[in-house]
Amino acid sequence: MARAAAPSRLPAWLKVQLPAGEAVARIRAASRSRGLATVCEEARCPNLAECWGGGTATFMVMGDACTRGCRFCSVAAAVKPPPPDAEEPAKLARTLKEMAVEYAVLTTVCRDDLPDQGAAHLAACIREIKSVCPDMKLEMLLQDFRGDERLLETVLDAGPDVVAHNVECVERLSACVRDAKAGYRQSLAVLAHAKSFRPRSPTKTSLMLGLGETEGELIQSFKDLRSVGVDILTLGQYLRPSGSRHHLKVARFVHPDEFTRYGAIAREHGFLYVASGPFVRSSYRAAELFMKGHLEPSHAS
Ligand code: SF4
Repeated sequence: MARAAAPSRLPAWLKVQLPAGEAVARIRAASRSRGLATVCEEARCPNLAECWGGGTATFMVMGDACTRGCRFCSVAAAVKPPPPDAEEPAKLARTLKEMAVEYAVLTTVCRDDLPDQGAAHLAACIREIKSVCPDMKLEMLLQDFRGDERLLETVLDAGPDVVAHNVECVERLSACVRDAKAGYRQSLAVLAHAKSFRPRSPTKTSLMLGLGETEGELIQSFKDLRSVGVDILTLGQYLRPSGSRHHLKVARFVHPDEFTRYGAIAREHGFLYVASGPFVRSSYRAAELFMKGHLEPSHAS
């Protein structure tokens, strides 16, 4: 069967205004003045104005170069990136205190080049932020530490309020979408261990659509994720970061109505919260607001 040509032109629902405004300029200045990288800018996120305008931002720690090369990601790859900045925990905490956000997300590149893959540095960032901004809710979007539970526990022990790790795509596509060091089953194991090690911290993951997955495969992923206790799920459209051969072509643009339907199907599988839409990304303001509400003491079971 002749394969449908990969769609090249963006459909109307994916055409957006570029971010601008005072809040965007202020946060950009604050992070750049301290040499901090936000994944919002690195990943050219279409929600930047909404999130920054609403007082949330996602910081990428341990530098802006990754030791992996996932074929959907715009982060630069390097075999041996510079060592993590020892001042980063303090700089992050100061910047977040200045921003006075209620909910912040830390994400990280992979550092397969470091003996502990950066676990101690991540834990130091979380501890410093929690001590300087005790009322702020902190979500940690983790790498997989190649499945090393001891390293995972080093970070979890630091006390993130929400633990996120992305499976990124359905199982069949994992080998061609993600770096060879990553894997669907390995990511499920990371999410399962995070839930068993810190049962009261909600776990969260993200799936990209439009990479060639079938509806059946998507629903199987919902079942797999619920089987390891995942609470929060985000579903968004894969967008090709660049025209380079390294980055996968978009197989199709999923219509917003389909996102609505997939969101409803996912909720039927028992997730605490599902955000599903073309522009939804793993760190998404609406989900964060829900989580902040969910983590309020009045919700504590
Ligand atoms: S691990 Fe993959 S998705 Fe994450 S920053 Fe590195 S290349 Fe990007």
